[in-house]
Amino acid sequence: MHLWVRIETDAGVTGIGECVHGGHQAIAIIKELEGRLIGRDPFAIDAIFEEIRRSLVFEGGFAGALITALTGIEIALWDLKGKALKVPIYELMGGKFRDDIRVYCDCEVSPGMNMAEVQEVVDEVLEAGFSALKVDLDIRAYGHTGSETGWYEKDKFNMTPNRWEHDRMVQLAEMVVKAAGPSVDVAADLHTRLDKHSAIRLARDLEPLKLMWLEEPVPPENIDTMREITRATSTPICAGENLYLRHGFRELIEKQAVDIIMPDIPKCGGLSECRKIAEMADLYSIPFAPHNVSSPIGTMASAHVCATVPNFLVLEFHWFHREYWSTITDGGDIISNGRIALSDRPGIGLELNEEVARTHQYPGTTWFE
Ligand SMILES: [Mg+2]
Repeated sequence: MHLWVRIETDAGVTGIGECVHGGHQAIAIIKELEGRLIGRDPFAIDAIFEEIRRSLVFEGGFAGALITALTGIEIALWDLKGKALKVPIYELMGGKFRDDIRVYCDCEVSPGMNMAEVQEVVDEVLEAGFSALKVDLDIRAYGHTGSETGWYEKDKFNMTPNRWEHDRMVQLAEMVVKAAGPSVDVAADLHTRLDKHSAIRLARDLEPLKLMWLEEPVPPENIDTMREITRATSTPICAGENLYLRHGFRELIEKQAVDIIMPDIPKCGGLSECRKIAEMADLYSIPFAPHNVSSPIGTMASAHVCATVPNFLVLEFHWFHREYWSTITDGGDIISNGRIALSDRPGIGLELNEEVARTHQYPGTTWFE
């Protein structure tokens, strides 16, 4: 389900944006902010964003649904500006470093899988042309864990895997890397479910696999803990999908607490803000690998940012088995051979296919009314 934002002007030009993970709070905030956009110069994107944000600091203008709501508006303003000036967004952002954007495919393995089953999952992704993929290694998310002697329920809150869990995570990663072969990059996500010493032990045991990264091993709130893990292993550590704005990334980057950052562009502040976050990271030789669970609108908007920063690594694609995804816009399947080509079309370069998009809009919303 997707949340799109549309901004109309009296000049007849319209912009479309998207935001993710804001929920019904973001929808309510967007509706409340409508009146503050009327009569404004829509080209003053950064000023509109910052003016509204600063006026709402008492209401949470540093993170969360308020920033996500503003992000949806910001992306729509960029689309609108590009269309009004008849240029793609990347041209408004300093031009391209690259013509197409490498994409990795998020795919699903489960703790009980054998090698043949893992191979099947990986083959499907490789046959679609992807050269990078990501799997979830946090087998604790399944609520139960196995052992040689059977299954038993785990404590829901402690973050220390037992020996069986640790070994199983290593084995799963080994199977995925083997299935992918030597030329495919593999990332593994832990969804913040380990404690520090368990994360270090796992990251070290995964070192021979040369993972593209190990994602969010511990909760992101304690940046010093993340830094200790990063320092302790040659497995690259990646985090940042739940941070907002430059302010949220500043300490992570300045302390070099991770090897790779992964802002969610249609969630954490929008296109201008994420370009600035990427540039901050580049000062520390930290690559930029955005998290992405959005529709083709948010994905292509993210691709424009990825094109305009030097340290872009790879962009996420989360909807491999959702056939509807490539029919939501007039751009068709924007991912070909694991890459997104940037077009010369103005703005984001895509229009919603209303008939399909209506059936996948956020539950309880109306069609731009
Ligand atoms: Mg993740």
